[in-house]
Amino acid sequence: VTNPVVGDETNGIEALRQQIRAVAERDLAPFIDQADAERELVTPIRKALADAGCFGRTLPRTHAGSGDGLAQFAAQQEELARVWPTAAVAATWTNLSGLLLSRFGSPTQQKELLPALATGRALGAIAWTEPHGGSAAAALQTVATKVDGGWELSGAKRLIDNAKNADFIIVGARSSDGDNPHKTLSMFVVYRDDPGFEFGGAHDTLGLRAAGVGWFTLDRCLVPDDRLLGERDAGFYQMMAMVEMGRVGVAAICLGMAEACLAAAVGFLSSRLSAGRPLASNDVVLANVADMRVRIDAARLLTERAAKLADSGTRCAREAAMAKLVASEVACDVTARALHLHGGMGYTSEVKVERFFRDAQAFTIGEGTSEVLRLIVGRAEFAAQ
Ligand SMILES: Cc1cc2nc3c(=O)[nH]c(=O)nc-3n(C[C@H](O)[C@H](O)[C@H](O)COP(=O)(O)OP(=O)(O)OC[C@H]3O[C@@H](n4cnc5c(N)ncnc54)[C@H](O)[C@@H]3O)c2cc1C
Repeated sequence: VTNPVVGDETNGIEALRQQIRAVAERDLAPFIDQADAERELVTPIRKALADAGCFGRTLPRTHAGSGDGLAQFAAQQEELARVWPTAAVAATWTNLSGLLLSRFGSPTQQKELLPALATGRALGAIAWTEPHGGSAAAALQTVATKVDGGWELSGAKRLIDNAKNADFIIVGARSSDGDNPHKTLSMFVVYRDDPGFEFGGAHDTLGLRAAGVGWFTLDRCLVPDDRLLGERDAGFYQMMAMVEMGRVGVAAICLGMAEACLAAAVGFLSSRLSAGRPLASNDVVLANVADMRVRIDAARLLTERAAKLADSGTRCAREAAMAKLVASEVACDVTARALHLHGGMGYTSEVKVERFFRDAQAFTIGEGTSEVLRLIVGRAEFAAQ
């Protein structure tokens, strides 16, 4: 199969893909069952991801990162997700928080946090979603009040990836009064030991069990002035500047899960006999497998387009939304079909498609639900008239 995302040898993507695939199969795979059971990003996995440069893939070389673009990041995320989507999720939030810091952070923030992130000494998280809702991103209710020498943050966040393990969390909060909700939000770097920060716990999630998705509260949490990230009241726009990376990265994770499940289904169907004939010789089975391949490749082309546009410096929120929308729905579809094609054993944890099926459900929700992404694509169509 020609893989358009990795077809360009000149930028080293194929070599990177092979390297990450080898790391995932050799260094991550043996620890996945333990990590999922313990719901922890266990140390050998965290170390392997750091050593392979996964946490700093897109971070600047000047701060110990690899300085790669979105196409490379997508290749990394797909390869990690083929083996264990949770590893790609950990790399997502570290790269995303690192990119926010490298684009908008002060020199001091960058010096303090970027090398630690890139080398795996620190894990980051980004907290926007709150108990009252996450889809209306500008409607958040956490408040940042200016006080002498700093800010006091009060509010609650939930469903935050890495909340359990992140050394610091980039928190969105309302920093000014005003009629325009988009222009009154700021971002702050909050450390776990800041007074008033309280980690609530990890959610009992269906999948991604070691991703540390959790909640926390901020009770007049005092942070000094130099923890403001970027400009005051520009937080919403700073977050939106990352939207291509977040969504293309998720699309790539979805490709990895779907490819893994299609390969597992084909392997199973090739060897499984029914009434003496291989299941793979059954027309209905072939049509099912064909649908899976066509849908994965369609999602791949959308993902490649968005990654290329973003890497060329073109804003492409619409294309990124399309890629993430299609790839996440394809991942849910393909993992479900693969589970079904395994027959009864597909419903057990003895086959790996069962875990992919559970993990896949997260990705039509996080980084913009399918409904919200459809709004973005639909509105763009009318705006273009
Ligand atoms: C595994 C996982 C990890 C996550 N990690 C993070 C993280 O690291 N940081 C973070 O900030 N958040 C994170 N989230 C939260 C995620 O971004 C939100 O769950 C998501 O934005 C939806 O918000 P909500 O759950 O409050 O649902 P709601 O916003 O309450 O939406 C409920 C339902 O209504 C639909 N809906 C909402 N508005 C509309 C509309 N206008 N039109 C049509 N339908 C609509 C939604 O699509 C959804 O189906 C994570 C979520 C999950 C599941």
